[in-house]
Amino acid sequence: MEAALYEKLEGGRVHCFLCSHHCRISPGSRGRCGVRENRDGILFSLVYQRAVAAGSDPIEKKPLFHFLPGSDSFSLAAAGCNFTCFHCQNWAISQVPRGESPIPGRDLPPEEVVSLARRTGCRSISYTYTEPTIFFEYARDTAVRARERGLKNIFVTNGFMTAQALEAAADWLDAANVDLKSFREDFYRRVCSASLKPVLESITGMVERGIWIEVTTLVIPGYNDSEPELKEIAGFLSALNAEIPWHVSAFHPDFKMNATPRTPAETLRTARGIGRAAGLKYVYTGNLPGDEGENTFCPVCRNKVVGRSGFTLLDFNLRRGHCRRCGEKIAGVWE
Ligand code: SF4
Repeated sequence: MEAALYEKLEGGRVHCFLCSHHCRISPGSRGRCGVRENRDGILFSLVYQRAVAAGSDPIEKKPLFHFLPGSDSFSLAAAGCNFTCFHCQNWAISQVPRGESPIPGRDLPPEEVVSLARRTGCRSISYTYTEPTIFFEYARDTAVRARERGLKNIFVTNGFMTAQALEAAADWLDAANVDLKSFREDFYRRVCSASLKPVLESITGMVERGIWIEVTTLVIPGYNDSEPELKEIAGFLSALNAEIPWHVSAFHPDFKMNATPRTPAETLRTARGIGRAAGLKYVYTGNLPGDEGENTFCPVCRNKVVGRSGFTLLDFNLRRGHCRRCGEKIAGVWE
């Protein structure tokens, strides 16, 4: 499939502006993501309708807590990523195709993804596990069909897309969970081979476009768990919109961060307190099943409006998106 969002340069080179790496790619080479290749001056996506993962998940796993809670979301991934995070939990599929290695996956056309989603009772399709931005054409063609069949579309993303990519996606994207991995450029450069600023711009752009957004920060001991940094993240989100749910999640050792310990529960509870002190109305502890911080509380009367354990919905005390006790509107897409 010829790629979207690129321009031809002199000498057969191309400039890809799908993500903020802005790769200039010579004929016969691939971009940094390893899944977009310049063939004789034309940029091709190598992952179009090539799925490495496809199946239904609880939407709470994304995590999205304020978007069709209790529903299933059909999860789709193609190989590759534009980040190289040391702590990637899906590295086996995200970090595979670099250089000239073959692209893993099976043929799964967009219309088949939509049929599978409907057959399994899902109300949405999540483009997830790897970075959806870089399988943009596959996501787009699936998402447009999904919309026609009454399904919502969700990105679980690192937020490193360009403004042009976000603009193009805004027509069919309903919701996103964006990873805000740190509030330090140095972290993004060192750990992810990327940068922070485009991520902040994407979060802002999604809010401006009315895309429902929740933000996740995986709190990693010794990397991004200082109180000043967590306060900066919370302050940024709160200033943008205090109703953005913020998920502070526990890290577990993986990939190139095997020597780093798990996040203590207390660190997450402190982070949650920081978020609430900054004015955020909905802050959740993640990967801590059974913790009080998994539940949604009414910001006015503190009634537990949605009770959860892990990915399971236990209580639902909302009436048409309002707290059953005091009538306060709870931000989100409930129907
Ligand atoms: S999507 Fe891939 S090829 Fe395009 S700019 Fe990003 S890393 Fe480079």
